[in-house]
Amino acid sequence: MTPSIAETMEYLRRSSPAQAEFYQAAEEVLGSLKSLLDREKRYEQHNIIHRIIEPERQIFFRVAWVDDRGCVQVNKGYRVEFNSALGPYKGGLRFHPNVTAGVVKFLGFEQIFKNALTGLQLGAAKGGANFDPKGKSDNEIMRFCQSFMNELFRHIGATIDVPAGDIGVSRREIGYLYGQYKRLTGRHEGTLTGKGLSWGGSRGRTEATGYGVVYFAENMLAERGETLAGKICTVSGAGKVSIYAVEKLYQMGAKPVTVSDSNGMIYDGRGIDLELLKRIKEVERGRLARYVEEHRGAVYTPVEDYPLGRNSVWSVPCQCAFPCATENELSDEDARTLLNGGCLCVCEGANMPSTQAAADAFLAAGIAYGPAKAANAGGVAASQLEMAQNASMLQWSFEEVDSRLKNIMQTIFRTASETAKEFGEPGNLVLGANIAGFRKVADAMIDQGVV
Ligand code: GLU
Repeated sequence: MTPSIAETMEYLRRSSPAQAEFYQAAEEVLGSLKSLLDREKRYEQHNIIHRIIEPERQIFFRVAWVDDRGCVQVNKGYRVEFNSALGPYKGGLRFHPNVTAGVVKFLGFEQIFKNALTGLQLGAAKGGANFDPKGKSDNEIMRFCQSFMNELFRHIGATIDVPAGDIGVSRREIGYLYGQYKRLTGRHEGTLTGKGLSWGGSRGRTEATGYGVVYFAENMLAERGETLAGKICTVSGAGKVSIYAVEKLYQMGAKPVTVSDSNGMIYDGRGIDLELLKRIKEVERGRLARYVEEHRGAVYTPVEDYPLGRNSVWSVPCQCAFPCATENELSDEDARTLLNGGCLCVCEGANMPSTQAAADAFLAAGIAYGPAKAANAGGVAASQLEMAQNASMLQWSFEEVDSRLKNIMQTIFRTASETAKEFGEPGNLVLGANIAGFRKVADAMIDQGVV
């Protein structure tokens, strides 16, 4: 008999202690599956639940490197290869001081369903290190990346496991990682995605997650007879996802009025100055506080002034909210504030940015709520397009990649929406995305036998 959700959660807590984010992600998915498991007994016969919550392989390694003062530093490196039923393991690397085995595991678990929803042949993995790139010199970043790859290279390959970026890992880090991979293996076959355009990267990859989140929101709104045009939007974060969500929001005629980083948040009632944001974050690699030096009319709120440690972005009244910073950045109180302020759409660019209580509040209110594993799948989908270009040794135009991305986001929305209807909960895209992603992976696991 299939163990109940409570029994499975109890087993997870006992067998993998101290992994709160992973329990949260697992509980959310398992909580959506009841009607599917009642209807389809084969998942129980093949013990799929127990198999899908257990990573196929977890690699934990030491990363020793020398800083600019000549001192040896040590960090923890991770790669969790979670599920390969649908294709080669695929997912990003996160470099951030908060990275732990539990964080990597939650991200890898989410990736299973996200990658399945894209409809592409992608397995799921996630990795990273508790390394803080902030304040490090280029040479320190390079030495860290080289040391990280000295272990990782033996586990990855173009048809085995294809890492990419995540928080703290973008073009610069991918370059150093790829350079070292090439030096160690002699192979130039696109084993990482998010590469530079002249050495195997894809046009549109940088923009893909941010653009994809906005395409997803546009699909959700269209079903309700609305569009983004003229909507006041709040965006958290100031990384790639946020910057390109802001860019696409402008293209859709919306007005994004906030962004935030780990030091504070900007509110600019005239609309965020995209060129300045790009200059501060992409060119200077600086802090958002600088924004108000050039725009005196904008308001900067440092984190010390946030009420009860909550991100002030969520107290700005808006019609659409785009949490694009990090996990659990949006609490149930934030959800209530947003709903009371008239918010009618929340679309997640970060992974698991809403706490379970916040997500429940959005669902109960019946607003358009796009959960991360559906709404932010544009990044990994464009990574697959990069893999396809590498395999054929061709490079597509920006328009080609962008139009495929748009279609993929529409297909993900339709799949989640139709699955929600099929299971009697129209509009519940959390349920729809979880069931649709799970069903695809579970069926492939059954086809491939007990391995
Ligand atoms: N880190 C991104 C995500 O969360 C992108 C992964 C990839 O491109 O492989 O999906």
